[in-house]
Amino acid sequence: MSEKPAITPGGYCANTTPVPGTTEQVNGHALGGKFFKMHGRRYADCPCSRRPSLTDRGKLRRHKPPEE
Ligand SMILES: [Zn+2]
Repeated sequence: MSEKPAITPGGYCANTTPVPGTTEQVNGHALGGKFFKMHGRRYADCPCSRRPSLTDRGKLRRHKPPEE
């Protein structure tokens, strides 16, 4: 288990760097229907065990870590 990232005073995860090798792009065309609008969105794992989407710059979007 890797170390958990820090948490901001607002309760959000302070980490914005995706875990290397975990980035994955959603293929909405393959899923079809309601998944179509998610097409092209990228997700990656965070060390806090969440899996937020990525910004255009390849950083993790603001997310809250799971409750203990
Ligand atoms: Zn996190």
